[in-house]
Amino acid sequence: MSHLASHYDVIVVGAGIAGSIVAKDLGRQGRRVLVLEAGERATDSARSHREALDRYATASAKVPGSTQRPHPAVGWPEVTDVTGTDGVPGFRAAGHLLQDGPLPYASGYVRANGGTGNVWTGLAPRMLPEDFDTETFGYGRRWPLTYDDLEPHYRSAERELGVAADADEQRAHVGLDFPEGYTFPMRALPASHLDRLLAASLDGQRVKDPVTLDEVELRMVGTPQARNSVPDPGYDGGRGYVPRGAQGRPDPASRCVGNATCIPHCPSYAKYTPLKTQGQWGSSVALTDRAVVSRVLVDGNGRATGVEYLSYEGQATRVHADVVVLAAHAIENARLLLLSRLATRSGQVGRNLMDHPVLLTWGLMPEAVGPYRGPGSTSGFEGFRAGPQRRARAPFRIEVGNWGWVWAKGTVDGDVAQLLHDKGLFGAELRRAVGDRVGRQFTLQFEMEQSADPANRVTLHPHARDHLGLPHPQVTYDLSDHVKDGMVAAKGASDQIFALLGAEDHTDYAPAAAWPGRFEHKGRLYGYRGAGHAAGTHIMGDSPGTSVVDSWQRCWDHPGLYAVGCGSMPSVATSNPTLTMAALALRSAQRIEADLAERDHPVSLTPDTPEVPA
Ligand SMILES: Cc1cc2nc3c(=O)[nH]c(=O)nc-3n(C[C@H](O)[C@H](O)[C@H](O)COP(=O)(O)OP(=O)(O)OC[C@H]3O[C@@H](n4cnc5c(N)ncnc54)[C@H](O)[C@@H]3O)c2cc1C
Ligand code: SF4
Repeated sequence: MSHLASHYDVIVVGAGIAGSIVAKDLGRQGRRVLVLEAGERATDSARSHREALDRYATASAKVPGSTQRPHPAVGWPEVTDVTGTDGVPGFRAAGHLLQDGPLPYASGYVRANGGTGNVWTGLAPRMLPEDFDTETFGYGRRWPLTYDDLEPHYRSAERELGVAADADEQRAHVGLDFPEGYTFPMRALPASHLDRLLAASLDGQRVKDPVTLDEVELRMVGTPQARNSVPDPGYDGGRGYVPRGAQGRPDPASRCVGNATCIPHCPSYAKYTPLKTQGQWGSSVALTDRAVVSRVLVDGNGRATGVEYLSYEGQATRVHADVVVLAAHAIENARLLLLSRLATRSGQVGRNLMDHPVLLTWGLMPEAVGPYRGPGSTSGFEGFRAGPQRRARAPFRIEVGNWGWVWAKGTVDGDVAQLLHDKGLFGAELRRAVGDRVGRQFTLQFEMEQSADPANRVTLHPHARDHLGLPHPQVTYDLSDHVKDGMVAAKGASDQIFALLGAEDHTDYAPAAAWPGRFEHKGRLYGYRGAGHAAGTHIMGDSPGTSVVDSWQRCWDHPGLYAVGCGSMPSVATSNPTLTMAALALRSAQRIEADLAERDHPVSLTPDTPEVPA
């Protein structure tokens, strides 16, 4: 296409959630935007959905990337790349993301058009005001922004992602501030049957935090969801909201119908994916797919001028723009900055890698709970997220898991195998036993805040090269005692919740290939999984000596270069991070537009004509 020969206003690297949003916003202003995407062009058509489902159905492991069609030129880390070592401490990591840390970074991401946002669960809570300054609690890093600064952008992000939640409930039980009269675009999703059973037994009960010895009141609270429910007619001052379906087209009838395959694919188009945003791109936004960006180009003054990308056959092309936006995912953004040897002043590129290490506990309720229906989680307990207790241990959100033991144990196949082998059951007896066991399964998922630690980092592997000859990213990762103490509190809370419910506790972190994330702390064994919430690798701050980007996600060292995404977040807090990331991306788009407007109409500091005295 001839556009490759031209100069763009903006080049966006990566068509995931962050990149798709920035491109849409700037395209709306008429800016000429080129989006370079490593994966293949994808659409949201009925046919491509069917093909994705076929791939999922035939995949031997139903991992997040199993609906995608990978190409050897574009690797990505799957959760199955990291395995435990049976019977002995340690873990092994193979594949795209290599590791040399004491503990595994136990998360993956996806490099395909739409990125990890194709396969995410879609939980979209906001951060708490106090999360923006954990230094107050003696750890972590302060944001150069407050909740109030970000609040209007949260609302824009909730519109873009189509969030369903109850503002009054979020105000009362999470402690969030919204402008008077704010409603979310769509009404909260109904609580699952499991949520209702747990709420009936637990609401108002208290459990003791074994670390701080405080009593915490339990209350089930609905989790904001980036998936279609019933639109709220009061939204936007009574203008209402129309849900978006396939290709981002308005679809008033689109609803979450409870298929429970949100990871990796929503067959009914209810879950937000970046393909919905891409469907709303204006004509000034162009996508070049199969374009693996390998380097950011800068001029002699360090100003970004464009990028170089490789085709799958390894052919290099250069394109130029006034502004370059890296939106390739926290780990790949850091990899690109390292490959380009840019933003070196603070020494922080790649450092401060954070995730939400998730402690899982799993049990059997006395009665059937109706699992494997609806989104992965519809409600949670919010009482451990905030307050001075976070001085003593990492805070956490408790997600109530609607999908039985699938994340913890790989059920249902595992249950069948166990009942067959251990109990010798066959036929009708086996069917009854599987139905009974699977029907009563539930999990609690404790998402721990992990604070920024420069030692947790992404580097370039010294020798290993990918299909295109680019160094593989390598991660060094560990958990602090603050996080581990959070897990002690989490397990203690879980024990008490299980007792209050009369649930059988089947939690077991015994050494196994399926549990790479295991450690001993204070005489007890714990196991964790990654949440896929990579953050912090191009951290934001208020000084070029200590951070990579400023509060607008502009690289301090390189005018015209932005790095957007969770990589900019100074803390990952306890909320799933993508809504905050989307709010930050929208805020950056405003700044980029202002930068470009300034270029078009430079501000004159000296008046052109001398003032005439009156
Ligand atoms: C299983 C799973 C469940 C999750 N659930 C939730 C959830 O419920 N709530 C939540 O808040 N978060 C969730 N997350 C996290 C969420 O998916 C990420 O925060 C989000 O997708 C990050 O968006 P991004 O645009 O920065 O990166 P990505 O979505 O990863 O997009 C990056 C894009 O850049 C492209 N790219 C990469 N390298 C290059 C290159 N060199 N050149 C050109 N293009 C490139 C990729 O192909 C991709 O399209 C989940 C993650 C996983 C893995
Ligand atoms: S529960 Fe089903 S319909 Fe709802 S978002 Fe998930 S996959 Fe889509």
